[in-house]
Amino acid sequence: QRPIEALKAALVETSNARHQILLGRSVVHWFRGDLRLSDNTALNLASTMAQTSESGVNATLIAMYLISPEDFEAHLTSPAKVDFILRSLKILQQDLDKLDIPLYIEVVERRRNIQNRVLQLASEWGANHVYANAEYEVDELRRDVNIIRKGVARGICFSVHHDLCVVKPGELSTKSTGKQFSVYTPWFRTWTEYVHTHPEVLEVSPPPAANPSRTREIHSTLFNSPIPSAPESKSLSSKEATDLASRFPAGEHAAHKRLKKFLSERIARYSDDRNTLSERGTSMLSVHFANGTLSARQAVAAARDANTTKKLNAGSMGIITWISEVAWRDFYKHVLCNWPHVCMNKPFKPAYAKIKWPTTPEAETLFEAWRTGRTGIPIIDAAMRELLTTSHMHNRARMIVASFLCKDLLVDWRRGERFFMEHLIDGDFASNNGGWGWSSGTGVDPQPWFRIFNPLRQSEKFDPEGVYIKQWVEELRGIEGKAIHAPFERLDIEEFKKLGYPKPCVNHETARKICTIMYKEALGK
Ligand code: FAD
Repeated sequence: QRPIEALKAALVETSNARHQILLGRSVVHWFRGDLRLSDNTALNLASTMAQTSESGVNATLIAMYLISPEDFEAHLTSPAKVDFILRSLKILQQDLDKLDIPLYIEVVERRRNIQNRVLQLASEWGANHVYANAEYEVDELRRDVNIIRKGVARGICFSVHHDLCVVKPGELSTKSTGKQFSVYTPWFRTWTEYVHTHPEVLEVSPPPAANPSRTREIHSTLFNSPIPSAPESKSLSSKEATDLASRFPAGEHAAHKRLKKFLSERIARYSDDRNTLSERGTSMLSVHFANGTLSARQAVAAARDANTTKKLNAGSMGIITWISEVAWRDFYKHVLCNWPHVCMNKPFKPAYAKIKWPTTPEAETLFEAWRTGRTGIPIIDAAMRELLTTSHMHNRARMIVASFLCKDLLVDWRRGERFFMEHLIDGDFASNNGGWGWSSGTGVDPQPWFRIFNPLRQSEKFDPEGVYIKQWVEELRGIEGKAIHAPFERLDIEEFKKLGYPKPCVNHETARKICTIMYKEALGK
């Protein structure tokens, strides 16, 4: 049984018992990857539940967030992402405080203790109902199933709701097989039809109602929980923290500000600009989606409303294209729920597990050159240095460096997937795994494995003047003209030596041939 089905089964099997549980003195909303008040499905339901008193005295709503350093390690959460979460928690706490709702924060050192701690805290607070939004990774779904069952035994109703996607996983299936789509284009057509015929999926829910002000006295110890510091392994220097705070302001207000600005200033040109590496033609909202400071519903509904046709698939090309990109995020989460093995370090298509990735010292040197931005291929080094400096990377650049790692350097794509998670501020398991699967040709609806990006062509096409390269690769800032894309090949040798920049670590044509042989061997072709 897939973990998502186990969750559904647990909710159905316990539904009678859970319905009989009476409202307690308080109701708990457990924040996880949903760090916002507006349009938060489970939070809204928790608030409604707290208001439904039969005796005339409402229950109080208590919000909680449990920080698990072991979860950060297990999920390879980057220091930048941990920092963004902590900054968002601060804002969330301030906003909840204005509604007299406490945000209780606790560090739970051992991840296995979380299940009991949730139920223990609910009991301490006289809460018989705990709400949360579903997280779709395997361990998280299994954890929630356990809490649902243990909760019922202890008289606590734990409700888990779908909130992360516009269309909930499992809702869309192919007409021919009745199963989950593995190809994006027909899936997206069905997704769009579904949203048109179920307009309620884009209805956004209001923030929670305020608690009575006496909550501050009753639960005085739960207010003003200190925001913990990042665990040692995830800490940042103060310069890094300051840079990130100005580059990626945290919290839902910042998310709405960015969305509004993008919709009014950039979305119209999105389909033209989104691949230009030097333009910030994309929304830069992924950090907010990945941490739940903005919901996909809010974003898609706002984009649709900004469209003169008020539709998802007619009118402004920029808007249509952007919505289709946000939908990729839904697609990969649907894939993860249906094929949870992608969460277990396995390629989507089992045959690709047979690729024999070299594990020689030379492969290690090449990986080192890639991850430090010292490959001697300017477009690759610019992208990797953008990641190392900002904790973000342009989507086109992600595609180029991912393809280059596995098809030119012949390094197992899973090492790149891991490295991205460890460094991205918007690290999201499903989208990252989907992106690496696409680029390496081993995933769901991939780029065909035999289509191999030529980094030079990509560089000339998407950064024609070398503006992006010069922004990130200091050594190359003085180069004029087309030599910027291939300084070793296009400058005279003395001039090249003066740059202090490495020679290309690999020859694309040679690598392409070896890669083709490796894939063919694995696939028995
Ligand atoms: P926009 O172009 O403004 O797009 C709007 C939103 O749509 C994004 O914020 C994102 O939520 C979604 N989106 C856009 N493209 C994709 C896509 N290809 N797949 C899934 N969702 C998409 N995205 C992540 O959020 N987290 C990741 O860890 C991640 N890893 C990636 C790894 C690789 C190898 C590749 C090729 C792509 C990866 N992406 C990931 C997708 C994409 O690169 C980023 O979402 C995008 O660069 C974010 O910038 P933006 O918000 O300005 O995007």
